[in-house]
Amino acid sequence: MSFERVIPKLLTWYELEKRELPWRDTLNPYYIWVSEIILQQTRVNQGLPYYIKFVDKFPKIYDLAVADEEEVLKIWQGLGYYSRARNMQKAANVVINDLDGKFPENFTSIKKLPGVGDYTAAAIASFAFEEPVPVVDGNVKRVFARFLGLVENIQLAKFQSLAFAHLMEVIPKNNPSTFNQAMMELGALICTPKNPNCENCPFAENCVAKSKSLQNILPVNIKKTKIQKRTIHYLFITDKQDNCLIQKRPTDTIWGGLYEFPNIEKGTTEFPLELLDLVGLKDSLDIKVPTKALGITTHKLSHQTITAILWRLDKSQLIDNQLNNRIKIANLNNFPLHKLMLKFVDWIHD
Ligand code: SF4
Repeated sequence: MSFERVIPKLLTWYELEKRELPWRDTLNPYYIWVSEIILQQTRVNQGLPYYIKFVDKFPKIYDLAVADEEEVLKIWQGLGYYSRARNMQKAANVVINDLDGKFPENFTSIKKLPGVGDYTAAAIASFAFEEPVPVVDGNVKRVFARFLGLVENIQLAKFQSLAFAHLMEVIPKNNPSTFNQAMMELGALICTPKNPNCENCPFAENCVAKSKSLQNILPVNIKKTKIQKRTIHYLFITDKQDNCLIQKRPTDTIWGGLYEFPNIEKGTTEFPLELLDLVGLKDSLDIKVPTKALGITTHKLSHQTITAILWRLDKSQLIDNQLNNRIKIANLNNFPLHKLMLKFVDWIHD
């Protein structure tokens, strides 16, 4: 069964079952772009409040372009993949400064913006400008592979190109936006990774995976990611005036631009003396190093598993140095913090 023939069923299903979401009520490419970037690697329920906060704080692309980076990261706090937020701000500046404030209006020129790949460019071009170019995200790839019974690994560029080329041929020229949204919605609501709801699927009668009971085998999804294990020691150093030291992460690293306690990577569970160097206490004779950590936690990222150990050290006085800023403990939450830091702040206030 060709894909083309089931499209009317898909569109009918979508009209009846689609979720009401704020970015579906707009043709504003900026809002569509914000929603698509937030929803990468993020479920709708989790992303929705971030979207609302983001467009409320930066209602126009100009507001995002001129905002302080820390303000942007603060809004993004908790979503992860912070380079997405920084790239959005870079792209907003390109639109304001190089394109006279006019958002590009086709797939090819949208793709030239920093941080915008095929998927996001296709979503904006089709949703805002009705350009017939297919969106091929994880949901769409899963539906496509199951419906046609394809056994290629969906992580490979080859599969991506195949799906893109095939869908490019069948995408309705008069309504590409609805088609793309319907495919994504079907993957999100019905053709889910586990236990797909085939009984209520508009493709059920014609789906190869269903007819051969291959739903649990397809799609083939093999990621070649090597997980790196790291141990990072963080120092919560305080003084008698309730200050602590924090530092800003370099922008070109994971969690770039966010704040954290001084830290060092070392594969030990004991207090690493190198932490003292970082806060200018290397030669202090009166320092009693802690023997018990304030807490230990494990944090998983896509490419690494971090064991984070938080140490507390009380000092009568703190001095800022090149790396570290002194701030009131009570003001920690005013800074954009990564997930581990949010956990540490909870421990501290417990
Ligand atoms: S019938 Fe089942 S496996 Fe096939 S596309 Fe629909 S939900 Fe997915």
